[in-house]
Amino acid sequence: MNKLLNIIVMAGMVGLARAACDVEAINPVSAREATNYRDNCIDVLSKQVRMEFEASLQYLLMAAQFSQDTYHLPGLAGQFWKSADEERDHGKQFIEYLRMRGYQGNSFFEDGTIKPILNKNSWESASEALRDALEMEKAVTASMKNMIDVCSKDGEDDPHAADWLTATWLEEQLNGQRHLAGLINSLERFNRDHKELGEWLFDKEL
Ligand code: FE
Repeated sequence: MNKLLNIIVMAGMVGLARAACDVEAINPVSAREATNYRDNCIDVLSKQVRMEFEASLQYLLMAAQFSQDTYHLPGLAGQFWKSADEERDHGKQFIEYLRMRGYQGNSFFEDGTIKPILNKNSWESASEALRDALEMEKAVTASMKNMIDVCSKDGEDDPHAADWLTATWLEEQLNGQRHLAGLINSLERFNRDHKELGEWLFDKEL
């Protein structure tokens, strides 16, 4: 009889434990808290994911062109392959940040077909591609500034997001712009003094 009672009590305990798990499963807690989490700020961050992936696709096409046998500028192509990887990683970092903050949306690519950000797949010269890259980075920097403004708005500010954008991403953008501007000016100088060999010599330096 005692044995039967034990079994009934054990079964009851297992049932209670399972019920508690079920409650947890249907009522999850969230990392968000109202004093810092601002929908308007987090929404603009979620839209940036697409921009980073579209920049990655654009660099991918630049790398692909300068890898063709007829162009064969492996140094320049290498720069663009690296940039394509970096932009993809930026998109991933934005997703990871959003997840850290408790953002639950997953429709990063729903607004139309994802495509290379400049919608371009051929370039007359290395200089044209590098100038496009610089314009692309300046557009991303403008987007960072817009996000910082949204996330710093009086009474609706998200201090952590604004700081993350300013310290991490503005720094990244400004360094990237400086790097590209330097490359463009070096290439132009090579071209001026060695018109036919300019791109080839420049590529050797990369
Ligand atoms: Fe980026």
